[in-house]
Amino acid sequence: MLPKIFPGEFAHMAASKTFMFPSRSTTPWLFSILAWLVAGGVCAAGHVDYFADNAYSNPISTMQHPNAEYANGVTYVTYLGPHEDPYVAAYDHASGKWQGPVQAGVNIMGKAQDSASKADQDAHGKPAMVVDRQGYVHVVFGGHGGVVALGANALGTPGGGRQIHVVSQKPGDISSWRELANISPSATYPQWVKLANGDLYLFYRHGSHRSDWVYQKSTDDGRTFSEPTSILKHKVSQASPTVHDAWYAWFDNGRGDTITAHYVYHPCANPGHSKDRLNAYYMLMNCRDGSWTNARGEALTLPVTKESADRVTRIPNAGSDRSNHGTCHVDAEGRPHVYFRQGGEVRYYRWLGDAWQNPVAVAAPDQGKGHDGDFVIESPTSIRMLLDQDNAGVSVVGWWNSHDGGLTWQKGPALLSSSELNFEASTLVRNAHPDARMLVASKSRKFDEPYHQMYLVGDKGPLGRPEAEANCLGEKLEREKAAMTLPKGAGKKKRKTAKAADEDPAAFETRDRK
Ligand code: ZN
Repeated sequence: MLPKIFPGEFAHMAASKTFMFPSRSTTPWLFSILAWLVAGGVCAAGHVDYFADNAYSNPISTMQHPNAEYANGVTYVTYLGPHEDPYVAAYDHASGKWQGPVQAGVNIMGKAQDSASKADQDAHGKPAMVVDRQGYVHVVFGGHGGVVALGANALGTPGGGRQIHVVSQKPGDISSWRELANISPSATYPQWVKLANGDLYLFYRHGSHRSDWVYQKSTDDGRTFSEPTSILKHKVSQASPTVHDAWYAWFDNGRGDTITAHYVYHPCANPGHSKDRLNAYYMLMNCRDGSWTNARGEALTLPVTKESADRVTRIPNAGSDRSNHGTCHVDAEGRPHVYFRQGGEVRYYRWLGDAWQNPVAVAAPDQGKGHDGDFVIESPTSIRMLLDQDNAGVSVVGWWNSHDGGLTWQKGPALLSSSELNFEASTLVRNAHPDARMLVASKSRKFDEPYHQMYLVGDKGPLGRPEAEANCLGEKLEREKAAMTLPKGAGKKKRKTAKAADEDPAAFETRDRK
């Protein structure tokens, strides 16, 4: 592994943009004013739609979530930055000003020098964020199952990295961070669920792909956590000794004190690994006693095995196609709505009380195929989905609306649009302000570049900032970026490393596979 040093407790300001008046006693007055104007972007090229240009690799996805939350007038965001480290920025809605991005910790999977090649990257350590009742910002990142040196993993198999939990030193202040060594390091795909009473649930996979999915619960704002509780069991398949039952799962709030889980089956090749993800499943936790039920309300035995999942939690009319998680929300009647990514489409399902509604492709190919995103339920029959999609050479992040319970979908306004860039959606901002609904990453369509731009989009479009503030790579990384930037496909490595092999296929990978 890499000779990075994590100081445990540190204040990192190097990556943040702080503008200060030069001292009048040491600098001529006129120069001071000019220097301040330039530093503040007043004389620079102007305003840009992105708020940062230092996102690295696959900086966000819908899997590690949420990666943004609105709290106390501020939208906080997090994403993968240089050296695969987690970066945090904050937008103050009253002043219209950005703070950061600042580095919130050190990912041990990061390299001494970044690479533009996907073969050298491991984006499993993408950060997930939550703001606790006191306003402290928590970020979990850096895990791909945990390195062997972390010791025995009773709930799974080792992979790489180390799952790390950092918290802001002060409430509402992203300028300095410290590590809290209170969660399992052998983990990947962190997902935070926050109940209305402030209880925090951290869900994740307890190791590499042949591992249980678990949660740890905190009732004291993330200062201590329960031991991991297994939800989905990994084991050798009953069908074949060379197949291992495994899962990709997604968790979020249900109605009241409940948490939803929707997931797909991964018949992992053992030894080795396969890319297959199949079927579609749904279940619900009652947080008052930790019990789980299926959509019909029938009690489940935990952890759920492949056999019991097929019997009681499977969505039968999802078929047995290749499948990937989407997001899931519950309506005012307590019924789940969910989408899965299947057959190159975003397919929406709704629980009707006694059965699942048949799947409907949102944003069908002839309308510009949808890739990924999230949705809002306004009423049981009125749903708005915010998706990234491609349409005739134009990448869009835009709304799709249904007013008949998901049977038909109509295209709504686009919040971002470009023929030069591809966009990648994340989940919706937790407790979102209408001006800041989703964190979005872009990638050049023409060049393989190590670094990418980040956007925060809402009903008024992207919340950008002065270009001089948004361009935050610094001279050294700008030079490295220029040296590494190549036309798309030139110098592309064919091999894919084993450690990157089970990454949640976000929109970019989906496109690459075609
Ligand atoms: Zn596998």
